[in-house]
Amino acid sequence: AKEAGRNGFEFFSAEMNTSSLGQLLLENQLRGAADRGELLLHYQPKECAISGRLLGLEALLRWQHPELGLVAPGRFIPLAEEIGLIGTIGEWVLGEACRQQRAWLDAGLDIVPVAVNLSAQQLAQQNIVSQISNAINDAGLAPEVIELELTETMLMRDIDRNIHTLIRLRDMGVRLSIDDFGTGYSSLNYLRQFPVNALKIDRSFVSDISAEGNEGKIASAIIGMAHSLGLEAIAEGVETEAQRSFLVAQGCHQLQGYLIGRPVPAGELAPRLRPRPGH
Ligand code: C2E
Ligand code: CA
Ligand code: CA
Ligand code: CA
Repeated sequence: AKEAGRNGFEFFSAEMNTSSLGQLLLENQLRGAADRGELLLHYQPKECAISGRLLGLEALLRWQHPELGLVAPGRFIPLAEEIGLIGTIGEWVLGEACRQQRAWLDAGLDIVPVAVNLSAQQLAQQNIVSQISNAINDAGLAPEVIELELTETMLMRDIDRNIHTLIRLRDMGVRLSIDDFGTGYSSLNYLRQFPVNALKIDRSFVSDISAEGNEGKIASAIIGMAHSLGLEAIAEGVETEAQRSFLVAQGCHQLQGYLIGRPVPAGELAPRLRPRPGH
């Protein structure tokens, strides 16, 4: 039996999720999901709290499963990583995000950068830089309209190699941000060496703002750290007005979260994109 979860996702029952039969079944279905056209991207806005301007979008992967409905990435990305499928899936995500940007441009819309989440295994791929530049070139895009989100934890796993890869990506012109910032163990010294544009404050520190006894001390510290390094600070998971006003008072104007907008299919976002001058 399955039950409808938050966000309209259908989650597996506890038994099915942990049983090896359920796992095996899902694994086999996942192998063909991309070819059957069952993967799709939703887009969540990043907004300026001061002007209300749309600053960017984050592409978030979903699996439209024939029986289970819309499956959240937390359910199948770890599995894809485990069975060596994340490279193929990740390449599809990059290609799809680029094709969507192209479609919006062709519709005469003024696009904003779209951020794609990369997994550690993808970043470690020998050809990751050319894979990304091919996806951008195939869609005829400027590199600046694609952003990559890399988690702090994955960057700290093989620091020297990752610094080198990030420098090549930065030189190509794509935007880079460190995701889930504050949950890993990067030192200021390494942070200085990663050529990134932004730090995304992890949702746990944003929800702390409204929690008793903590008052958002970590969020404030990250905002200060980002600014002193010349980086943008983006808060993820902003759900309440109290969180929003606290963040703005601390100088963090870039916000993302259910308060700003939920992840939605591309078609629902188009109305937020302005017509391009001359169109
Ligand atoms: P993430 O990159 O940290 O993405 C943010 C997650 O928080 C998303 O969950 C988003 O829907 C959710 N979220 C956004 N605002 C709020 C809020 O205000 N409150 C709460 N409670 N949640 C909020 P989602 O879409 O289920 O994605 C989960 C994770 O799956 C992502 O975390 C990311 O690590 C991974 N992921 C998603 N798409 C991809 C992908 O294409 N490739 C890879 N490698 N990982 C992906
Ligand atoms: Ca992310
Ligand atoms: Ca995140
Ligand atoms: Ca997070």
